[in-house]
Amino acid sequence: MLINMNQMLKVAQSSGFAVGAFNISDNALFQTVVETAEANNAPAIIAVHPTELNYAKDDFFKYVVARISNSKIPFVLHLDHGDSVQSVLRAIRCGFSSVMIDGSLLPFSENVSLTKEVVAVCHQLNISVEAELGTIGSMGATMEKGVEGVIYTDPSDAEIFINETGADTLAVAIGTAHGIYPKGFKPELKMDVLKAIKEKVTVPLVLHGGSNNPDSEISEAVKIGISKVNISSDFKCAIYQKLREVLTEKEGWDPNNIFPECIDEGKKVVQQKMTLFNSIGKARLYQDIDAWRSELL
Ligand SMILES: [Zn+2]
Repeated sequence: MLINMNQMLKVAQSSGFAVGAFNISDNALFQTVVETAEANNAPAIIAVHPTELNYAKDDFFKYVVARISNSKIPFVLHLDHGDSVQSVLRAIRCGFSSVMIDGSLLPFSENVSLTKEVVAVCHQLNISVEAELGTIGSMGATMEKGVEGVIYTDPSDAEIFINETGADTLAVAIGTAHGIYPKGFKPELKMDVLKAIKEKVTVPLVLHGGSNNPDSEISEAVKIGISKVNISSDFKCAIYQKLREVLTEKEGWDPNNIFPECIDEGKKVVQQKMTLFNSIGKARLYQDIDAWRSELL
């Protein structure tokens, strides 16, 4: 079933687990996430960056929407790092149930007004909105980009920002970066910043750049109050490492011969993340969802 982010994270927040958001841009990646969620009765978020949307093309999402709407497992179809009102409108036309508007590189007041504009449109359509405050680092080679140095989210600003914009969820900068960290680099998450933000805002909090961080830090962040963790590089890496092996060992060019074992490697990573977020088996908590499906945000 296809639900919005508020419906997804309300349950996660009250039951103390996080939901993984996995970036997809083709059927192999999509199949990896959906089938792992179904095999583990785990709710999941299908995330699509604007560059991934450009690559997959709009009509691909007719299949995605049909596939997840027909599933018993709760899914959100979410635009990751929407960069303009136009990119948000495109996602809405493709049937997305949730969007992110990322104005984090803008001055505070411009981030507020852009986010407010998106919230005003989306809430009329029962689509939830994620916003970002502070900046997430970048390790290069990722489509999400990011900045060289992380600017940590200021907890008092977070409170003002949420009150002014009406955003449903907030992506916070507590020390993660997009991509895979170089050898020897030790990412360190500032749990005290996260705790301080948690005291100031009640909306679910989102952790970007969740790949390649120590499991202990991620599970601690979930305990403190992160409700959604974004994963992109980790499971794609597993699939494409395997693909490199398969292509050197096997002759042939049929995707149905080449990809299944690669998808299996990706599934292992997705399942391990779901275990880490404590979301395995949690689909049952959404059984009453039809009762409050009509509820607005
Ligand atoms: Zn991100």
